[in-house]
Amino acid sequence: MSTTPHRTMTISHERFARAQAHLAGGVGSGTRSPRAGWLPCPISVAEASGSQIVDADGNRYVDYQMGQGPLILGHRPPALIEALTQALASHGSQLALCHDLESEAADAIAARMPSLELMRLGSSGTECVQYALRFARAATGRRLIVRFEGHYHGWSDAIHWSAHPSLDEAGPADAPIAVAGTSGMPAEIAAGLLVLPWDDVAALELAFRRHGDEIAAVICEPIMGNGGGLIPQAGFHDALRAITRQHGAMLIFDEVLCGMRVGAGGAQEMFSIEPDLTVLAKAVGAGFPVAVVGGSAAAMAVVTEGRTMHGGTYNSNPLACAAIIASLRETGRPGFYDELIARGERLANGLVGVVQAAGLEACWSGVGSLFQLWFAPEPPHDYRSMIPLVELSPFPTLHSELLERGILIQPQQESLFLLSAAHTDADVELTLTRTAEAMPAVVQAVHDGRVGPKGGVR
Ligand code: PLP
Repeated sequence: MSTTPHRTMTISHERFARAQAHLAGGVGSGTRSPRAGWLPCPISVAEASGSQIVDADGNRYVDYQMGQGPLILGHRPPALIEALTQALASHGSQLALCHDLESEAADAIAARMPSLELMRLGSSGTECVQYALRFARAATGRRLIVRFEGHYHGWSDAIHWSAHPSLDEAGPADAPIAVAGTSGMPAEIAAGLLVLPWDDVAALELAFRRHGDEIAAVICEPIMGNGGGLIPQAGFHDALRAITRQHGAMLIFDEVLCGMRVGAGGAQEMFSIEPDLTVLAKAVGAGFPVAVVGGSAAAMAVVTEGRTMHGGTYNSNPLACAAIIASLRETGRPGFYDELIARGERLANGLVGVVQAAGLEACWSGVGSLFQLWFAPEPPHDYRSMIPLVELSPFPTLHSELLERGILIQPQQESLFLLSAAHTDADVELTLTRTAEAMPAVVQAVHDGRVGPKGGVR
């Protein structure tokens, strides 16, 4: 069944064609290309405000991508624009010297997340993850990093392994093989990684029995955002914390996606866990390029004492610091997260109801501010249980039908619905109405067998 032709995409098509002259593939990142599911072509944005964007052809969308997570206050939040305008007027955009805003930003983060006694700032999650791994190796003098299959920690050679491996290459479920995330990565890096299934205490214990004195750190997304926001079973994080401590390994929480999004104190507060090191980005800057790596004074001593290198031209630039200060002030208002999460839960529950009313199974995973819809009675719990759900899912049809109707969600089911404080009850109602309108095409896709990652585009 073809999609309902509500949208004209003429100008987006023209811009995409023109962009290909000098922009590789016509896009700024692979995740924005038609290959990643943006069909018939990437949307070219003309305006963005609050929960909405308008494309170059005048189509308006309620946006649930929220810049892939950072826009916790929506597009163009006035408080941020004002704070950055002031910082620009007083400090300029770039100093590479010390200034008052950097300690103010660090204090604000430490007040929210006390496990970050000491920190350094950077510009991207990938960069700060890479630093966290280096700090852990330098502090422990060990070489191995444990990572979980299906978790995403950025694109660096150091860790972009087994984030989305083909199951043909990934080895046994209880002892996955490290699979390079893309071409061009040195094969020898795999020797420094141990890949484990998520949410499996037995596999973790076995890895530490075998390699305990070689493991520098375990890194995880405490909520597996690269899989629909999968929360492990009660006790898993406690086991992770206990076993890393017992063996003198560091625990690194990659809260790039969930920090400042799933609650005031991030996932570590939600699970009452004190990691040794934490990486933040995305929502901490509410849309401005900022990242943070920090942890206990003991874990950060290698940096404090200059025993490992940490640098970066743009670290702690005035705009980044002003963004952190303003975003934490805004998201720190009483009730901020309760309201955001409650609205997201209303949307998630409403979507489940709409899908079920159309005769398909449905459930959701995650937290209200970050969730995914599944066409199944139960959400997956790890990478291996997610893949069959994705392969049998009419999600691509849902994606394209919603786009046609002015609702923008990320094209891949391994991603998330991401909400902001700018989303309103009216947005939620509109989204549920549009989803109900999309359901006949989604049901038809299931009947036709047009399911799986490419289901909506055949
Ligand atoms: N870690 C997690 C959990 C992420 O979700 C991402 C990006 O999506 C990264 C790291 C990489 O961050 P960046 O894209 O800022 O390099």
